[in-house]
Amino acid sequence: MGSIQESFDLIAVGAGPAGMMAAGQAALAGARVLLLEKTDAVGKKLSITGQKRCNLTNTLQIPAFIERFGREGRFLRQAFHQFFRDELLAFFTELGVETTVERGGRIFPTNGDAPEVTHKLWQWASDAGVELRTGTRVEHIAVEKGTVQGVTLTGGEMIPAKAVILATGGATYVGTGSSGDGYRIAAATGHTIVPLRPALVPMKTSGDLAQRMQGLPLRNARMQVFFDQNREIDAFGELLFTHFGISGPIVLTHSGEMVDALRDGKKVRVEIDIKPALDRGQLDKRIVRELDKAGKQYVRTMLKQLLPHKMIAVCTQECAISFDQPCHQVTAEQRKHMVEWMKGIVLTVTGPLSMESGMVTMGGIALDEVDSRTMMSKKVKGLFFAGEVLDLAADTGGFNLQAAFSTGWVAGINAPLRIK
Ligand SMILES: Cc1cc2nc3c(=O)[nH]c(=O)nc-3n(C[C@H](O)[C@H](O)[C@H](O)COP(=O)(O)OP(=O)(O)OC[C@H]3O[C@@H](n4cnc5c(N)ncnc54)[C@H](O)[C@@H]3O)c2cc1C
Repeated sequence: MGSIQESFDLIAVGAGPAGMMAAGQAALAGARVLLLEKTDAVGKKLSITGQKRCNLTNTLQIPAFIERFGREGRFLRQAFHQFFRDELLAFFTELGVETTVERGGRIFPTNGDAPEVTHKLWQWASDAGVELRTGTRVEHIAVEKGTVQGVTLTGGEMIPAKAVILATGGATYVGTGSSGDGYRIAAATGHTIVPLRPALVPMKTSGDLAQRMQGLPLRNARMQVFFDQNREIDAFGELLFTHFGISGPIVLTHSGEMVDALRDGKKVRVEIDIKPALDRGQLDKRIVRELDKAGKQYVRTMLKQLLPHKMIAVCTQECAISFDQPCHQVTAEQRKHMVEWMKGIVLTVTGPLSMESGMVTMGGIALDEVDSRTMMSKKVKGLFFAGEVLDLAADTGGFNLQAAFSTGWVAGINAPLRIK
């Protein structure tokens, strides 16, 4: 723990991947660096990434990588040309973290140990000379005549510095420390904040249909999503019914689009096809076969051949089939109902579960107010930004961490130039 009376050239705010990378690089460049962290430990979120296995980056090349951030991705081009995947992997190899490519080009530490990534990253920054103060929350950035003067802590204490790197993360998973402070702090210096929305977030649905199947995962479902009447998303993969609605990989991946459509006042309707390998005709034939085979058995018994256990009662209720109806009494109308239901379980999406439950935050510090070559504010001299506090968010695959590391690296290289 450093004494607050010591003087520092540069203060990095937030000891996540962006802040640690920025602070370490700045210290290597010769700056006296103080890293301030609100919680009692560094890298709390980093240590739980990738289900504690830490999906560090991805094998995609820069143009495709950038696309994963949507329109905002262009901002990253300059940073990625300075420090991208190969540089990141070389950096971690140097620290003794070997990596492995997995499905979808996702790159993980070979030992799948996210806390170790955090530990080694902090050890590196500390060895470079970064001084850390945990349990220290920054309230304001002091600015005079358009130039950074230092930071003010909760409690009113002012720490002077010639440059400040704001790397406070997003506004989700607040237990890890990222509660959105950076947006308020940046706004007070005159920066525009693009409205915050959660992404990679489970979605709530109306009625109790999802709830009646809660806990049921579907491994190979097709999910079509309609914004008003237009089909905008057509995805295959894993989906999960929950007590509030839907979750699972395909839902999380497309949640940002749904959140924005709802925000634009559109109706969002999801249709889930649980038999995507069969068209309606084929599914009907399959049901006829099963009904014939089952004869006098109950429909609910026959449905064990076609549906997961948790879905059977729901299917019969939705298709108006009574509890003890035998198969040979099923009408053509009821059969049609079953086909339609299995090919398109309809749910109305009402919103994201909560801001807090998103894995990343869309929105943040407006990118056109930041120099993409240096990460310095165009409004305040000596103020730099790095990581998720910027208006940058991508889906899963290692994109968000690479962005945090790359922007952190660029800020850490450029901020010391302000103090010469
Ligand atoms: C469960 C989960 C899993 C994820 N898995 C992956 C993955 O495998 N791959 C991937 O690419 N991305 C993943 N992400 C996203 C990724 O973790 C983030 O995008 C990344 O951590 C952002 O880094 P950051 O340094 O900008 O912010 P953060 O990691 O959020 O760090 C910000 C730090 O700033 C501190 N801070 C905040 N306010 C203040 C203040 N006022 N004063 C002092 N300190 C402050 C916080 O306490 C925190 O330590 C995951 C996210 C979650 C929630």
